[in-house]
Amino acid sequence: MELWFTEKHTENVLFSIKVDKQLYSGQSDFQRIDVFESKEFGRFLTLDGFMMLTEKDEFIYHEMIVHVPMAVYPDAKKVLVIGGGDGGAVRELVRYSTIEQIDLVEIDKQVVDVCKKFLPQTAARLEDPRVSIFYEDGLRFIRSRENEYDLIIVDSTDPFGPGEGLFTREFYGNCFKALTDTGIMVNQHESPFYPVDAVAMQRAHKRVTASFPISRVYQAHIPTYPSGHWLFGFASKKLHPITDFDPEAWEKLKLKTDYYNTKIHIGAFALPTYVRKMLEDVE
Ligand code: SAM
Repeated sequence: MELWFTEKHTENVLFSIKVDKQLYSGQSDFQRIDVFESKEFGRFLTLDGFMMLTEKDEFIYHEMIVHVPMAVYPDAKKVLVIGGGDGGAVRELVRYSTIEQIDLVEIDKQVVDVCKKFLPQTAARLEDPRVSIFYEDGLRFIRSRENEYDLIIVDSTDPFGPGEGLFTREFYGNCFKALTDTGIMVNQHESPFYPVDAVAMQRAHKRVTASFPISRVYQAHIPTYPSGHWLFGFASKKLHPITDFDPEAWEKLKLKTDYYNTKIHIGAFALPTYVRKMLEDVE
């Protein structure tokens, strides 16, 4: 007997991974949570049947969502992660000894508990003493914050279900308010490839651009996300992702990474023509 996990990437495209066994399945107050074990991708986490991360390719997503902004703003001391209950973004952040405080706001405690048990590869550093976990809706949490964070990382699910509010103009406006004068917000920005994802990506970009004076987009190749072509948003009050980037300063930190490097940093902001056009259409 063969067991397969299948996610519908569009009405006409399926993505499947052969599963060795299912390690966990449960329904939280917010979503269905599953963890599978596979030969090709190791363990992987899905929420409501959508791929969140696999052990094999999560390094790409987590390195790119953390090291790009940190290399532009290595003095960031207080960081907020919204979503990200798997702990992958926190794992990369705690490698910077200069960061003093990391607040993680995850709506679903069950995601954190499940990841601690089944996905230690991402969740192992959630116990770092600089990390505080708040089990709250990120949209509500951010409303009362002002001039507090140097960096906000929005590591959310897609713009439906519990993650919907994290793609609204109100949310981005409140992130702007919650950031310090040189603050940066980075968010997962969906994919430009399939029309259904591209529409969500353009909507998010339009709203971010309306809230921040600097709003750029960068890309990475993430094999298990729809089409494999994924975007991140870099929004900032003052710092520019390329002109304020000091590659030598980051290299001096001697952090070992498997995807991010200072050349990828610059290259990731060079977007294909069709993607640039989609972004320009809503700017
Ligand atoms: N890297 C992933 C991706 O793009 O597919 C995201 C992974 S992470 C597990 C996303 C987390 O965001 C989930 O654990 C989910 O519970 C959390 N989340 C969704 N909506 C949220 C909200 N409104 N406030 C805080 N956390 C939220």
